[in-house]
Amino acid sequence: MKNPLFPDIYIKSIYELPLEYLEEKGIKVLAFDIDNTIAPYDVAEPDDSAVELFAYLKKRGFRLILLSNNHKERITIFNRKLNVTAVYKAGKPSGKILKKVVEKMGYKGSETAVIGDQVFTDVWCAHNVGGIGIYSQPMCNRDQLITKVKRPADKLVMALYKRRKGI
Ligand SMILES: [Mg+2]
Repeated sequence: MKNPLFPDIYIKSIYELPLEYLEEKGIKVLAFDIDNTIAPYDVAEPDDSAVELFAYLKKRGFRLILLSNNHKERITIFNRKLNVTAVYKAGKPSGKILKKVVEKMGYKGSETAVIGDQVFTDVWCAHNVGGIGIYSQPMCNRDQLITKVKRPADKLVMALYKRRKGI
């Protein structure tokens, strides 16, 4: 059986997304984690490169979601320059909320990729909706307290994954 915590794709940053491959796999929706994936958790807004990337992805035809377990204010402020569907308190790793949002857009969980820096929230959430889990290396070493507690388990899973893949 496939390990639900092992990512399908491993990238160093969101700028390395294998877009052609995702399109070939029928992925229509990209759901991005925010903290330590698009920006450090203590940075309120996306930088210009992230804003450009999102504009490009939209133009290319992807539907975009910000999918964060963080609170409403954080997500609302972060989304001001991105203007995508923004989901706060997303309940990751559960896929319940994500599935609802994706279906409301007219797509299926299996047409969705989740991009994030944590296997226990983001990658697992992707697999819970039958989608593709993309692990993007954490942007920096600073973590919110709750993430700091969970990070060692995440690191362990990624070490096993890398060993399995020979990375
Ligand atoms: Mg994160």
